[in-house]
Amino acid sequence: MSELTKLTMAEAREGLKAKRFTAVELTKAHLAAVGAARGLNAFVTETPDLALERAKLSDAKLAKGEAGPLEGLPIGMKDLFCTEGVRSTACSRILENFVPTYESTVSGKLKDAGAVVLGKTALDEFAMGSSNETSAFGPVTNPWKRKSDPSVKLVPGGSSGGSAAAVSARLVMGATGTDTGGSIRQPASFCGLVGLKPTYGRCSRWGIVAFASSLDQAGPMTRTVRDAAIMLGSMVGYDPKDSTSANVAVPNFEAALTGDIRGMKVGIPKEYRPDGLSAEISKLWADGIGMLKDAGATPVEISLPHTKYALPTYYIVAPAECSSNLARYDGVRYGKRVEGKTLDEMYAKSRAAGFGKEVRRRILIGTYVLSAGYYDAYYIKAQKVRRLIADDFAKAFETVDVILTPTAPSAAFGQGETDDNPITMWLNDIFTIPTSLAGLPGLSVPTGLSADGLPLGLQLIGRPFDEETVLKVAEVMERAAGFTAVPAGI
Ligand code: GLN
Repeated sequence: MSELTKLTMAEAREGLKAKRFTAVELTKAHLAAVGAARGLNAFVTETPDLALERAKLSDAKLAKGEAGPLEGLPIGMKDLFCTEGVRSTACSRILENFVPTYESTVSGKLKDAGAVVLGKTALDEFAMGSSNETSAFGPVTNPWKRKSDPSVKLVPGGSSGGSAAAVSARLVMGATGTDTGGSIRQPASFCGLVGLKPTYGRCSRWGIVAFASSLDQAGPMTRTVRDAAIMLGSMVGYDPKDSTSANVAVPNFEAALTGDIRGMKVGIPKEYRPDGLSAEISKLWADGIGMLKDAGATPVEISLPHTKYALPTYYIVAPAECSSNLARYDGVRYGKRVEGKTLDEMYAKSRAAGFGKEVRRRILIGTYVLSAGYYDAYYIKAQKVRRLIADDFAKAFETVDVILTPTAPSAAFGQGETDDNPITMWLNDIFTIPTSLAGLPGLSVPTGLSADGLPLGLQLIGRPFDEETVLKVAEVMERAAGFTAVPAGI
């Protein structure tokens, strides 16, 4: 492992400026790490030539004093972002050979900021999943191992599991994720990373393959809170090409990291202690509350009474939107086509060959809840409950500044361990989904290890467009927790 791959983005930024190493050297060190870690299956497509070309440009810009905020920093791009001239698959057979002629707004912004993209990282097919096992290109392996049995291959979480594995294994310094119901925060928790889902509308969705458009949001996955602030700054901003992009001011997120949270009120929702919450997660949460108290903040018990309806609401709204969004994959306009005797047969054969089991399950549920006979009973009802969930948060934020909860109900589990029951998998997002339904910013910060030596994260939830407070509190927790563990071999 090269010393260069151990650096944080903030450290590498300084090192490049001070000419201790070049962007080409930094990129080569990371490309070597990518090559040595193919067994993780973190990347779907590697782009070493483009990366080196870009790194040379970065060195030229650094020499001229024209460096962008991410100049020369190697990152991974979740393969849900369309990238011009580079295959963009969403980890689905149906887009296996899709090469976009355009660049998503967020990936374009990151490149403009000087980031060096090493390739496209794996995900659950169309971002539907919590383990990366639904990818058409095989599962991704978490670089962390159980102390009790290092031979078990663990999932990195999902859907942004390739990004999480790549950042955690030091293949890249940061990576993009997208989060519809937890896909940035849960893999961050499973891999010992910081993962931030910004407020809905903060990052443009333009050019990101759509799953559930009213929930999808891009965000950074990094090894430190500061790096999350740095990367976020180059991802956000109003985009007229996305009708739900928010035209709000972009703050300097890094400047929010003052370390001072004295007098802040932190909400602790009582509904986030479901029966059966593990003693390990309860303790992690209690320890986190202690850290905030020690830093001068006040924990306040709050109630979010509609929490128990969040999961069923999500599993109506998200599949409904997915069934509509995925109607475009008909074998005519995009990707895979399997010929049939009639047009209908061609549609059916193309979609049957192109979509995996989980995606088909979501399309079926979505089509059902949107059908004429059930639209009012399911879809409209779910929309109403979604409003109540959002109102719960709005009420809580009248008295507290930020909310602290666990990120996930467990540490990373083994590949294949949840195969028999999709509901077990869906329960993984029990703590992250309410935030998504309410459109609020949520961040997972690693604060401890499980008895078996695996990372565990806590989630901070903020007011709309108040990523600054979330980042500020997260940095205080990061420091207090002193999370320095790394996967074996790093
Ligand atoms: N695990 C959730 C799902 O399968 C969330 C996925 C996501 O956030 N993209 O839908």
